[in-house]
Amino acid sequence: MLFKLREREYYLERLVMLKDKHAEVAHILDFLYQVELFKKDLYTQIKDSDWKRHIKKIYHLFEVCEAHGSPSIKEVLRELKKLSKEDLIKKMEKFLREKTACDEERFIFISFLNPFFSKLSESTDIKKDQWLKNTCPVCGFKPSVSYISDAEEVEGGRYLSCVLCNTEWLYNRTKCVRCGNDEDDSLEYYYDERERYALLQVCKKCNTYIKIIDMRIDGLAVPQFDDIATLYLDLWAKEKGFIKFEKSIIGL
Ligand SMILES: [Zn+2]
Ligand SMILES: [Zn+2]
Repeated sequence: MLFKLREREYYLERLVMLKDKHAEVAHILDFLYQVELFKKDLYTQIKDSDWKRHIKKIYHLFEVCEAHGSPSIKEVLRELKKLSKEDLIKKMEKFLREKTACDEERFIFISFLNPFFSKLSESTDIKKDQWLKNTCPVCGFKPSVSYISDAEEVEGGRYLSCVLCNTEWLYNRTKCVRCGNDEDDSLEYYYDERERYALLQVCKKCNTYIKIIDMRIDGLAVPQFDDIATLYLDLWAKEKGFIKFEKSIIGL
């Protein structure tokens, strides 16, 4: 548990590091920093995954979004604030069932639910190396990013990282995360020369991509944030008509 808290403290350091390197997304990283502070505090206050019991805490997140969020987040907030706690819970239950909402609501709900679902993930016995599927073994959401790292059990293994609860699990490195295609000649990799640690794995069969953060090149990376810091790759992919398997929390 202490290790998990340290990890969350490190997230904040990484966001500062990334901001220095990526001035073009500094405003987004600043906002994420404030939201991560909220998530870290919430994580230290809760003991289990019972988010409904702590629904009041979401009003603190609303304040953070009000103070630091984009105009479109503030607009969505105005509507959410009108809801009773019960209706807010219903809306989030629907989100958890359907796994979809507008980008702004999705951002707010995932940010609030993440500490709770992380607790759930930590208390679940997951065979990280045996799951091998394209949805999260804990919450059923999809991974928004993947990474390669050397572990004791698997050298150069590729892991998927869940957009909701941050659970990570092993997945075939040379296999499309959407359609399962594993033919070398229809999987393509794109990266920027200056940042070789962030690659796009594009499947030419289903036109889908996921980012791969190579932790062997940058061991300090935090995949979910390095994904957002390298937003230029997603903008490039969008121009080419490639579709991201699952959007990051900011909706891109
Ligand atoms: Zn999950
Ligand atoms: Zn595919």
